[in-house]
Order: sequence, then structure tokens, then C-alpha cells
Amino acid sequence: MSKYAGIVVNNESIQLDKIFTYRIPEALSHISNPGYRVKVPFGKGNKIIDGFILYVYDHIEDKSHIVKDIVKVYDKEELFTQSDIKLMEFMRENYLCTYLEAVKLFIPRGVIQGMKNKVIDTIYLSKELDGKYNKTPYIEIYNFIKENEGVFTKTQLAREKGFSISSINTLIKHGYIVKDKKVVDRYNDREYKNYERKLLNHEQKLVVDKVLNSSNKLFLLKGITGSGKTEVYMNIVQHMMDNNKSSIILVPEIALTPQMIERFKGRFGKDVAVFHSKLSQGERYDEWFRVKEGKVKLAIGARSAIFLPFKDLGLIVIDEEHETSYKSESDPKYNARDIAEYKSKLTGCKVIMGSATPNIESYYRTKINEIELLELNKRADGANLPFINTVDMREELKNNNRSIFSRELYEEIKNTLSKKEQIILFLNRRGFSTFVSCRKCGYVFKCDNCDISMTYHAHGNYLSCHYCGRKIRALSTCPKCKSNYVKYFGIGTEKVEIEIKKAFPSARVLRMDLDTTRKKDSYEIIYKEFKEGNADILIGTQMVAKGLDFPNVTLVGVLAADLSLNFPDYRSSERTFQLITQVAGRAGRGKKSGKVIVQTYMPESYSIIFAKNYDYEGFYKDEINIRKDMKYPPFSKILSINLSSKNENLLIKIIQNIGVILKNYLKNSDNIEILGPCPCIIGKIKEFYRWQIIIKGDIDTNLGKNIKDMVYHMTREVYNDIRVSIDINPSNLI
Ligand code: ADP
Ligand code: ZN
Ligand code: ZN
Repeated sequence: MSKYAGIVVNNESIQLDKIFTYRIPEALSHISNPGYRVKVPFGKGNKIIDGFILYVYDHIEDKSHIVKDIVKVYDKEELFTQSDIKLMEFMRENYLCTYLEAVKLFIPRGVIQGMKNKVIDTIYLSKELDGKYNKTPYIEIYNFIKENEGVFTKTQLAREKGFSISSINTLIKHGYIVKDKKVVDRYNDREYKNYERKLLNHEQKLVVDKVLNSSNKLFLLKGITGSGKTEVYMNIVQHMMDNNKSSIILVPEIALTPQMIERFKGRFGKDVAVFHSKLSQGERYDEWFRVKEGKVKLAIGARSAIFLPFKDLGLIVIDEEHETSYKSESDPKYNARDIAEYKSKLTGCKVIMGSATPNIESYYRTKINEIELLELNKRADGANLPFINTVDMREELKNNNRSIFSRELYEEIKNTLSKKEQIILFLNRRGFSTFVSCRKCGYVFKCDNCDISMTYHAHGNYLSCHYCGRKIRALSTCPKCKSNYVKYFGIGTEKVEIEIKKAFPSARVLRMDLDTTRKKDSYEIIYKEFKEGNADILIGTQMVAKGLDFPNVTLVGVLAADLSLNFPDYRSSERTFQLITQVAGRAGRGKKSGKVIVQTYMPESYSIIFAKNYDYEGFYKDEINIRKDMKYPPFSKILSINLSSKNENLLIKIIQNIGVILKNYLKNSDNIEILGPCPCIIGKIKEFYRWQIIIKGDIDTNLGKNIKDMVYHMTREVYNDIRVSIDINPSNLI
């Protein structure tokens, strides 16, 4: 009896996002599991296209129409497992993506494109030299190969080792040596210095014991900066290895990886797979197979490493779990934290989320006992946390200082340079900034409905709330203190670099931001330069706030805390608290003590005060109350519908129609609020106008799906002119 297969076809059209049934012919009867990539005839013309088997059925109920046969199976083995398929279904439901988008996360692109292992022809011995060939130069070649069998290709022997190509050819021709194929690893690895194992301190030991012995699976490790979280992870990874289990360590983006790779490879050797977005396609392909074939028991990587095909997963670590880079911004718009949790349900693996400044929602879940809380409250090397001082920039203005450096920061920079210690200057800027505030009294224009900063639109000279669409005319006098110092904010890292070079011409300066780290290794190069003391000052954005451990840094300056504080997002206080705490954690990590200076127009803001006092608990209590009052997550879900188009009129017409229909559809749902439609904060990107609708409240998967279907239905006829993006709990609303 033939079996049948439920197949997803490799075609991105949303209309084809379903399961198609095919017969598994006798010739392919070895296929009894899903996970294979196949070729099938499709549509009226029976065009042959690729597909993936997600289900295998023994029989089918509906025999009313003809079921076609699978024509070919590609690989010897399944590419994904039953539990991967469960995860794909979960993603399709929760992130409103298609089957195909989900499938593609589990397989490197190279596999789908038919990439092969990299194979080179290397030279081996075949028989002893004799007769007229038993003499120079043949003997030298022969002996060299004897020592280096399978290492060099013919060309390398000639070009790099200087042997005569015609002599090599002669030996091949007469069968003394042969060419043979060898698979090589494309990930070109270097040696790492041994990262010595440390004796765990009491706190660390307690945490490790709890993770290993608790019946819980999900843990939040709240450990202050420098408390030795990495050592804890490594200890548990070692325990997993001893028990033949694998581990995945997730780190935020590329930024953290050089230091983490250095540490993990320095501890566990070469058998650590590395997986992030800056690898070449070939490198990803090889690393993926190393995992699939069970050659490695540990992988370290960015978000997408969560999908690596480990068979016996024991541990997932999500380091710096509060980072937004764990949420994907393209379809499927998954959050690696949710995926890890779902994987734990499927496989029973442990998940540790680590941070000095946990995400508010994660911490809330420890309070309602969904996640077990573990804490590290001391720095591992006995150092103290640096002293944080805030500088009120309104006072600077009063004293006629209009530079971007306060007098205190200027003096401290001078001091630190003279002591030959290092400085990090941090600009917590997120690409652009358009909020409006008074430089004299610190007043910021906010929307009363939404409690977020209003955005300035130079074109039209008005302020608007990009959550609910409320608009007001821009004022040039401050409503609070009546001064004329109302200004829109904007300062970039480049400008800081110029100003620093003016003020301290002899200082050696490095800049780390998106512009200076576009190339594959540029982050690592800047990191090494600074670590080795080849620069005095590192200027940077969010990138420098993360996890870096530089013992000679004794001064950290936060240039404009208000940039993130007034970012139009309900999480701006949380982000500011996190950024200040994290960046402060870069100072005073060695024997010398550190100092942090935070410049702001709002020193009385709760996120700045709690950050200054290292009071996470206090911050959490205030913040969670605001979230509750305003019905923001974790007390609701947010669904954003984002439309973009080159045709502004059409875009506005369509999104307003969608708004009307949604309002009608949801008019009886008390717990749901619709905000907008209104333009996004970034109203236009590369000729595309952008508008959004935000839905806030009790949104379950069913409602999410209905809204998605509705929006796709309403944009079907303008499919070519309008791009649609739907996201649940987006990490940014810009
Ligand atoms: P975190 O990730 O929590 O900010 P790290 O893992 O970077 O902290 O550790 C901070 C420093 O303390 C590192 O230099 C690390 O080598 C050191 N360290 C960690 N654990 C110990 C220990 N048990 N004994 C001594 N030093 C330790
Ligand atoms: Zn004012
Ligand atoms: Zn509003």
C-alpha cells in the first residue's frame, strides 16, 4: 500500500501557503518520515517544482480527485525532524508567517540551492619509487608527500612548495602518486588562547546546582555586570557534554561574538560551531552539517542558531536576553526567546536567559512563577560596580556651556587620558531622533493618550503621536517655562568624534557604529585595537554597551541619555535603564575603579535615578505599574499592521479602509484598542511611504490570524503596489 505525503511547495506566493497531498510511489517507499526535500508536478501544466514533506499519511480520506506522485527525493536523509515541524506550526500560528518561511529557517540556503561540500584534489602516495624514477628530483617530492599525505593539491606543491610541475605530472602518470578528493571545512578557523577554567565562587556554584537539580526548565539568571555569568554557562555546558548532550549559546548579533567565541573556543577547543549572519553561505552550510552529523556538541551564534539541527539538545543559553536583536524583523518575525521556550517544551532541554537588566516581561514572569529566578549579586573578581554620576545639562546651559561635553565630563576625560587609562563614550541613539524638548527646563512634548514622546515633522512644522495619530502645531516657546530654547534633538557619533578630536587633539580615537562595522571583520578589528590599548577613547552606539570586558576602561560617558529616554516607544524608559546599566558595566572591570557620567536634561526621571542607584527592583516596580495602567505588554499584546507604498494616495486610501473595517470588526471587543491609522515615525524609506495601525489588547492566535487574512484580502488587488507587514509584539514601532 502506498503512503501519502503532505507537502509545502517552494513558492513564496501567499495563495500557495497550504499543504498539498501527493502519493509516495513504490519506488520511493523508503520514505516513511517527513523532513525530505522532493520534486513534484504542480498545477495544471504539471510543472516540476521543489517541495518539502511535512506530513506522511498511511491513507487519505478524500479520494475525489487524482493524487499526483512525487517524482524525486533529493537527499539521503531528512533535513528536519518531527519536532521541527511542530515548531514550524507554532511559528505559523504565532507569527502569522507562511509554512515556507518557517521551513527555510531550518535549512541553510545552500542546501536548497544544491550547494555541495567543498572538495579539493589532494595528493597521496600509491606505490614505492623504483627503476629510473628512484632518484632526484622524484625522491624529494615523494618524501615530502610521505610526510604530508592528503594535505596539498598539485598546484600548491608547485606554487607554494616549489616542486617542478612536470616532475609531479610524471609521478602521477606512472602511478607513483595519485590525486584523490578530500572534503574541506570552509570555516577557516584560527587558534584561540586557552581560556582557563575558574573555580566557581559560592554564588556561581549555587546557580549551577539549581539549574542542574531543579525540576524547572526555564531560568532567568539576573546577574550584575561582571558577576561571571559566562563562567556559569560554561560550567553547565561542560556538564551537558559529560552527559552527551548538546548546547546552544545565543548572543546578540555579531557584536558580542568575538569575545564570546574567544572564550568558548578558548575553553572547548575547535569543536564549537559558530553561526551568525556574517558567515558566507558556504561557511553556514558546513557549520550546519557539522551540527547535523553530530560532530560538534556546542554552537554559539546569533538568533538563527536556535534552529541548528542538534539531536540531543540539553541546554539553550540566551545571553543578554533583554536585547532586541533576538526578535527578527523579517518574516517569520520570531523571537528566539519564544522559540527556545517552545523547544524546551518539545525536547525537555533547559533554557537559561541571562542579563544584568532583564526584560520587564521576563522578570514579570518570574513573579508569577512561570520562570525560575536565579541571582548573582557580586562581581566575580571582587571589583566594585563603578560610581554613576548624573550631570544636569540644563545647568550647563545656564553656565553658558553649549558644547556636547559637560564641564565634569571634560575634566574626567582629561584626567583619565593623563593616567593612560581608557574611555568609552556612548551615544544611545537609535538611528535618528526627532523628539522636541526644552533645553532650559527639560520639558518634553508627549501624547496624553499614549504616554510617548511626540515626533517632530519639519515638513509641515507639526508634532504628531505615531501611535494614535494625534497632531499639534510645533511651538517655539516652552509651555512650561516660557523660554525660547525649544529644540529638536539630534547628534551623531561622527559629530562626537569631531568634537573629541578638537578638544583632545592628541587622543587616539576609535569609532564603532553601523557605519564603521559594515565589513565582515571590522567589529573584531576595532574590538582588538581597543583591547590591546591602541586607542584611548572608543566612541560608539548600542554596540559598545554590550558585554565587553576591557580591564583598562575607567571612565564611561553617556553623552545624551535623553536620546533613548524620549524615543517614541512605550519601552523607552526600560531601554534607557538597561543602556545606562549595561554601559556603566564596561567601567572598572579590572583592578582600577571606574566612574560613569550620565549627561541628561531630565536627571529626575525614574529610569535615570534607578539606573544610577543600580536599583533594578525599584525600576521594575515603577515600570510594571505604568504598563498596567497604560495596558502595555505584559498586560496586553500589540499587533502592528504596517503598509508601505510609493503611491501615497493609494496607501492612505487602503489603510483607512482597513481601519474602518477593523474598527467595525472589533467594535464589541472591550479589551481591544485600535490606534491609527497614522504615518510611521519614519514616514518614508527609499521612496516608500509608510503608515501603520496598532492594535493593543487581548489578541489571541485566532484573532491574529483573522486580522491577517482580512488585511491580505483587502490588499490582494493592489498586491503589486502595496507591501504589507504584520507583526505581533514588535521590538520596534518605527
Ligand atoms: P558577566 O558576563 O556576568 O558580565 P563575565 O563572565 O564577563 O561577567 O565575568 C567577569 C570577569 O570575572 C571575567 O574577567 C571573568 O573571567 C571573571 N570571573 C568569572 N568567574 C570567576 C571566578 N569564579 N573567579 C575569578 N574570576 C572570575
Ligand atoms: Zn522649558
Ligand atoms: Zn497618542
